[in-house]
Amino acid sequence: MSPDVPDNVFLQRWEKTRERLAAAGVDGILLGGGSDLAYLTGYEAMPLERITAFAGRLSPPDSKPALIVPALEAARVRPRPAVYSTQSWGDTTDPVEVIAQAIPDSGAVVVSDDLWAMHVIGLQRRVPGVALIPIGEAIGGLRELKSPAERDALAEAGSLADKVMVQIQSGEVPLVGRTEAEIAADIASRLLAAGHDTVEFIIVASGPNSASPHHHPGSRVVQADEMVLFDFGGRFNGYCSDTTRCVHTGPIPDEVRFVYTILAAAQEAAVQQARPGHSLAEVDLAARSIIAGAGFGDNFIHRTGHGIGVEVHEPPYVTELNSDPIEVGHAFSIEPGIYFPGQWGMRLEDIVVIEADGARRCNNSDRSLLEV
Ligand code: ZN
Ligand code: ZN
Ligand code: ZN
Repeated sequence: MSPDVPDNVFLQRWEKTRERLAAAGVDGILLGGGSDLAYLTGYEAMPLERITAFAGRLSPPDSKPALIVPALEAARVRPRPAVYSTQSWGDTTDPVEVIAQAIPDSGAVVVSDDLWAMHVIGLQRRVPGVALIPIGEAIGGLRELKSPAERDALAEAGSLADKVMVQIQSGEVPLVGRTEAEIAADIASRLLAAGHDTVEFIIVASGPNSASPHHHPGSRVVQADEMVLFDFGGRFNGYCSDTTRCVHTGPIPDEVRFVYTILAAAQEAAVQQARPGHSLAEVDLAARSIIAGAGFGDNFIHRTGHGIGVEVHEPPYVTELNSDPIEVGHAFSIEPGIYFPGQWGMRLEDIVVIEADGARRCNNSDRSLLEV
């Protein structure tokens, strides 16, 4: 995150977070390093055993949270006294003690879902009267409601990934005769050339490998007349892209073409369901019912999507069990897939951001199965 982000962005984020936590009946917060801490402070902590924490009380409402950092990293912190107080701890101090001073000594305190066990358990022993609750359980994702500027950033990142997908779909990226790993390396440089700051992940899955949703590109050489699935993303200005398309290296067999029409219809139906007033489960079920109705329910082996923002996977998750309402500011993938193990598979993925009038797609490359 740029160090130039003004204090008021973080003050607004903390105020919104404070309101959501208070509404959930929570009294305090403790975040270890990671994306939530960076979201509220702008500080990207080193993910090491010396804990960096964001800790605070919800009442009184004007209490200032603390950014607690290892002394040897304190020089990296930009002081933002309007947003947080900065406290450092040295190697002869017990950081749990510093954290305990910054949170309430009774009631409920949310902790980041990925806080290290040694810190959670140390704190639990130090403040036995406090109920520690995973933040996801209390309020879902701290970062899940994106501001208009964040939604625009996701759309911009998406358009950069689309540029590379269009290069693949137009045949500009050689496929047949190259290994998946070679093609992935080529895509990595193209993602950067398109303007991404970093590459986050690349899946190139050819032939039978396309039936493995999280295949790691390897030494298999792409053949003529087979499916090749591309799923990749990078980061631009702090926000991630993530898109999937399939191409066929030769004439498309009728069976493959037929299954693809089911997949594309399922993805479109899910995008149409993605609007305020519906639940996340309804988005999943819109895709799932079409695929199951065509007889391929057992071949759609994952949820329909995941939230996205400063991380590629973050809440909210689009599953048939998540009955949470869709809200303006949500951002998530819609990526149904149909897989035939050992043979071939296909997936179609766009990121959408939710506006008042429905889903706005961040990916707009051709959604059809193209022959290259
Ligand atoms: Zn995935
Ligand atoms: Zn993806
Ligand atoms: Zn995805």
